[in-house]
Amino acid sequence: MQLTVLGCYGPYPPAGGACSGYLVQENRFNLLIDCGNGVMSRLQNHLEFWQLDAVILSHLHADHYSDTMIMRYGLEIAFSQGLRSKPLPLYAPPEPVSEFERLPYKNAYAVSSLTEGGEWQIGPFTIKTMAGIHAVPSLAFCIQSPSGTLVYSGDTEYCESFAEFASGADIFLCEANYQEADIRNGLPNHLSSAQAAQIAAAAGVKKLLLTHHHPERDPATSLTEAVKHFPGAELASEGAIYYVPTSHS
Ligand SMILES: [Zn+2]
Repeated sequence: MQLTVLGCYGPYPPAGGACSGYLVQENRFNLLIDCGNGVMSRLQNHLEFWQLDAVILSHLHADHYSDTMIMRYGLEIAFSQGLRSKPLPLYAPPEPVSEFERLPYKNAYAVSSLTEGGEWQIGPFTIKTMAGIHAVPSLAFCIQSPSGTLVYSGDTEYCESFAEFASGADIFLCEANYQEADIRNGLPNHLSSAQAAQIAAAAGVKKLLLTHHHPERDPATSLTEAVKHFPGAELASEGAIYYVPTSHS
């Protein structure tokens, strides 16, 4: 399994950055997790967008799905040019309904609902879901293949059950939008890097990748606060590729 970080910022990117998007590949199957602004552009550094086999969205906030609104134009053109013959399977939580209903566009996507506590077989991946705590319904994904397990947090506040869900993951890709001061100040909806690291330690994951970086937070502080709890914690960086079993380029 190969994980490529396409975009790792939210709720907006810094200059030259992109919001949430992660390409997961195995046996030539190309799965895109989240599709925030800037992701379609970055994706094409690695493969043609029309070569995607499926897209799964953790939740329907714009920093996680806005480029699906752009990719649909490209898919329409790819169909007309004979580059692609079938709609792109797109899985997303069905709420907020107003956002979910915006996803279908001509025959660009074959849209399906993702719900908490379910299990889906998508290409070589078995994907389980868990609900996070967020302003809109947000799902965490446990993505298993014969080569190992990747767990992605989606967007969430701290919740006890996360450690069990992430238990034993080869890579735990966890949002760390906040720092400890933000939690002390009562900011809702996201984890601090320290909380992400505490979950990773409790779960016994092999590798912790902190992501969903806030453009107004110092990344060095986020990392310092995380390594107190999980010494091997790393900051996800755009363009980096990680492998399961684990190595990094
Ligand atoms: Zn969100």
